Amino acid sequence: MIVVMKMKASQKNIDAVIHRVESAGCQVHPIVGVDRTVIGVIGDGRVVDRRQIGRMKGVENVMPITKPYKAASREFKPEDTVFSVGGVIIGGKDLVIMAGPCAVEGRTELLEIAHACKEGGAHILRGGAYKPRTSPYSFQGLAEEGLRYLAEAREETGMPIITEVMDPALVPLVCEYVDILQVGARNMQNYTLLNAIGRSQHPVMLKRSMIGTTLEWLMCAEYILSHGNNRVMLCERGIRANETETRNTFDVNAIPVTKQLSHLPIIADPSHATGRWEYVGATAKAAVAAGADGLMIEVHQQPDQAWSDGRQSLKPERFKRLVGELRLIAQAVGRDIPVDSLEVNQNGRTGIATPIEVVTKR
Ligand code: PEP
Ligand code: MN
Repeated sequence: MIVVMKMKASQKNIDAVIHRVESAGCQVHPIVGVDRTVIGVIGDGRVVDRRQIGRMKGVENVMPITKPYKAASREFKPEDTVFSVGGVIIGGKDLVIMAGPCAVEGRTELLEIAHACKEGGAHILRGGAYKPRTSPYSFQGLAEEGLRYLAEAREETGMPIITEVMDPALVPLVCEYVDILQVGARNMQNYTLLNAIGRSQHPVMLKRSMIGTTLEWLMCAEYILSHGNNRVMLCERGIRANETETRNTFDVNAIPVTKQLSHLPIIADPSHATGRWEYVGATAKAAVAAGADGLMIEVHQQPDQAWSDGRQSLKPERFKRLVGELRLIAQAVGRDIPVDSLEVNQNGRTGIATPIEVVTKR
């Protein structure tokens, strides 16, 4: 439920409501606005008496949250979630471009492609150190060695890094190295992993499973948010349909749908959504036009030599050209793609200049 406090409610009134809710075993997420405080209550709604709360001093209104996902819903938090990772703003007016190889293949290779991605317009570097492969005999990733190379690439380029984590036991280790954790499509409903990531309080991108409905996906985001970890973004990466020409089917609907239902930023991954580099550009453009907050694109210096997902990887020159085209589309829909992450830092959109993340857990 949501408790809307009166404009003139005192801190004592607010504290009394919080105390009442917490002693019933529910979690409280106060949102302090300019003229009033709104208190989000999460937990088993049966144990708090709504009418009793409604009669408390300073309370204007008590409303139920009708959706089964609470903290992820727009009802709970009407304004967009915006947060900063290493100086790059996610969920704001500017779109964020994440790019890099499917897998970290070696130190030299990663440093080279990291520089090429930055030069092509990327703000965040991606690269898998733990790879979820269909075959147990395929390359499984360089593990911690790969994390070290990613951290080195961040040092050299200044770009924050994102990588997938599959094992809950490895969450603390991966958090030591990277700025954003990625939950892969195959692990969307791995609740033990989601709980571990929620507890870590680390920024996270939650990919949609290839068979996941929007409801299931948002319920998974709820797992992470329920631990008070609010730096969550969603990622649409294509779903299973009966089409065989492409690896998956990009669900462009997912962008306006999640935007309406949730306040979380939504990133599009046209690489996994299509599985073929020839289609990545068209899908990326559709995603930007539809209102995505960013893109994740696989880039490789020699796609035909890539250890994984070469078929869908763009060469650096093509990636750079695409970002230029995407910028025009972003501008046509009232947004922008900063030329590089340095510009994101310099154009006053970081830190105190931007209203960042207002939901806090007590
Ligand atoms: C990836 O990002 O390389 C990846 C494995 O993605 P997904 O989980 O969407 O298949
Ligand atoms: Mn991949």
